[in-house]
Amino acid sequence: MNTRDAASPTILIVEDEASLQTLLRYNLEKEGYRVTEAGDGEEALTLVAERKPDLILLDWMLPSLSGIEVCRQLRRKPATRELPIIMLTARGEEGDKIRGLNTGADDYLTKPFSLPELLARVRALLRRAQPVQQKGVITWGDIAMDLAAHRVTRAERPIHLGPTEFRLLQFFIQHPGTVFSREELLDAVWGPDIYVEPRTVDVHIRRLRKALNCDTESDIIRTVRAAGYSLDAESAA
Ligand code: CA
Repeated sequence: MNTRDAASPTILIVEDEASLQTLLRYNLEKEGYRVTEAGDGEEALTLVAERKPDLILLDWMLPSLSGIEVCRQLRRKPATRELPIIMLTARGEEGDKIRGLNTGADDYLTKPFSLPELLARVRALLRRAQPVQQKGVITWGDIAMDLAAHRVTRAERPIHLGPTEFRLLQFFIQHPGTVFSREELLDAVWGPDIYVEPRTVDVHIRRLRKALNCDTESDIIRTVRAAGYSLDAESAA
C-alpha cells in the first residue's frame, strides 16, 4: 500500500552508511513519508537549497562536511533556520559532545537506536514544527493557503495569485514577523541559482500586496526601510 502523496512530509536522510540509509528509507516510506537521500554534507546542502524538506535526519560523522557544520550552515540562513533536524550520533560520548556544542539540532539519537523510537521522534518533531498546517492548508490571520490545490482566500474570499506571489506568501506565512532582505527572499523563493535582480522582488511584493489588499484597508506586508519586508503580525491580529 502506498499512501504517499504531495501532502506527505518529505524527510531528507543524510547518512554515509549505505545499510543504515536503506533501513531508514524503507521504514520511513512504510510510514507514508517521502524520502530523499544524501551521502555527504555538501550533497545535503545542495538538496536542501533545491527543495526544502520538512525534516532532516542528519548523521554526525560524514565525509567532507560534518553533520555539525551542515546544521550550523542551515541555521545561519533565514529560509532554513527553523528546519527540524534530528542528529544521529555513533556513540554515547559523541551524543554528549554534540549536546555541549549547541549546534542547533532539535533532537539527538544515539546509534544503535530503535526504529519505533526514531519514528516517534520524527512524528513529534513534525507535529511541533507545523502547528497551523492541517491537510495541506496553512493559515495566518484571515488568510488560508491550500498548498495542494494552490488556492488562497482572505476572509473567505478567493485571492488570485501568480506562482511567484504564491510562493512569496507561503514563505512569509511560514516565517511571520521575520524581516527578510531582497537577497534572502530571492534565495528562498526563487532559489539560489536563479539570477534575478533584487528589484524584481519589489515588483512581486507590489503584486502580492495588491492582490491581498483588494478588499481591505489593512496592509499585512511591512516594508522595512533599508532592510526588506516582513509579514506584519500587528495588522492581522
Ligand atoms: Ca557516518
